[in-house]
Amino acid sequence: MNRVILHVDMDAFFASVEEVDNPSLRGKPVAVAGPGQRTIITTASYAAREFGVRTGMALGQGLKLCPALVIVRCDHRKYSHVSAMIIDILESFTPLVEPYSVDEAFLDVTTDLNRFGGAETLGGRIKERIREETGLTCSVGIGPNKLLAKLVGGRRKPDGLSVLAPGDVRDLMESMPVGKLCGIGPETERRLGSMGISTCGQLGRFPLQILVREFGVLGHTLSRMGRGEEDSPVVPLGAGNEKVKSIGHSATLPRDVTDLVTARRVLLTLSEMVGRRARRHDCAGNRVTLTVRYRDFTTFSRQMTLAHPIRTTSRIYRSASAILDSVSIVRPIRLLGISLSHLRFGCLQGSLFPADREEDSLQGALDLINDRYGEFSAMYADQLPDLRGSNGIIPPSWRPRGVRRSV
Ligand SMILES: [Mg+2]
Repeated sequence: MNRVILHVDMDAFFASVEEVDNPSLRGKPVAVAGPGQRTIITTASYAAREFGVRTGMALGQGLKLCPALVIVRCDHRKYSHVSAMIIDILESFTPLVEPYSVDEAFLDVTTDLNRFGGAETLGGRIKERIREETGLTCSVGIGPNKLLAKLVGGRRKPDGLSVLAPGDVRDLMESMPVGKLCGIGPETERRLGSMGISTCGQLGRFPLQILVREFGVLGHTLSRMGRGEEDSPVVPLGAGNEKVKSIGHSATLPRDVTDLVTARRVLLTLSEMVGRRARRHDCAGNRVTLTVRYRDFTTFSRQMTLAHPIRTTSRIYRSASAILDSVSIVRPIRLLGISLSHLRFGCLQGSLFPADREEDSLQGALDLINDRYGEFSAMYADQLPDLRGSNGIIPPSWRPRGVRRSV
């Protein structure tokens, strides 16, 4: 059966939210950025983009390109709130909504399409509702799978609506640069380029054995991506706990670090974020994964499997630290991530060991304080100064609520 997948991507999300909040910013070159000294631009308004200001650019460089640039400090709480509003709107069209990042979502509208009078009409109504209720514009792409919905949606921004019919996939992919595909980053693009592959058409026809030799199992995925084939389902929030695979958080560091003391402090904060979510969802996991990304963007993950599921901040932290100790850090670290997987839900048996019981009750007390007074009201001394608002990055794993669904 042919699926119809709709991708919604908010236009210059953070900057647009700020413009709605403060109409005097409208049409001005606006950059949303974090507080730190090494601040990078999280979102640039379209007016700023005309000067060449881009997301991920250092603030200083942005100001050089556009001296009139208006800098607004990012306010995650505000964006999360608007993001949750948008998900609510999308869920009023279909329950099959998968938030993909703070400003993107996929909808499986295969069975709802007729009710709404076709893809184009549905896309238009979604855009209209979002604009009415939040004042924001978005771009919508509709296609036979997630890969293609996102691809076509990204071609007409801002405020675009694109529909790709299954019969047009081949033509579209033939000359599409591989780097335009979600999932093919600059490094993969470079490696493909060195093999003489620059378009999706070339990638889709390239001998599979060579791709597999070069990229391992990923070679199969790349080959299919080149042909525009992709079949991952849209997994809605709250789709049943059996689908929840992991709870993860990552953070780009305020500066690239080589010293393990700073790295551990970040791990502690991440452990608290992961642990809080696990405890809130009444689950625990016995696999901890540490992800390290170096300054040059090379990334690796290491896992540790434990005899019993864990969920307290200190246990998650101890596991992640042990993994960090077991690897040799060869370059400055740019990003760290922790995820907890092999999750089990429901009440956990109390520990038999007094020391563990003590740790659990301490954790319970800390959670109560943070529930009442806000996140990080009570924290471990090692978390000071912590990561909050360090660079204005919301990681891709961020979700408006609930648990991240990924491996
Ligand atoms: Mg966006």
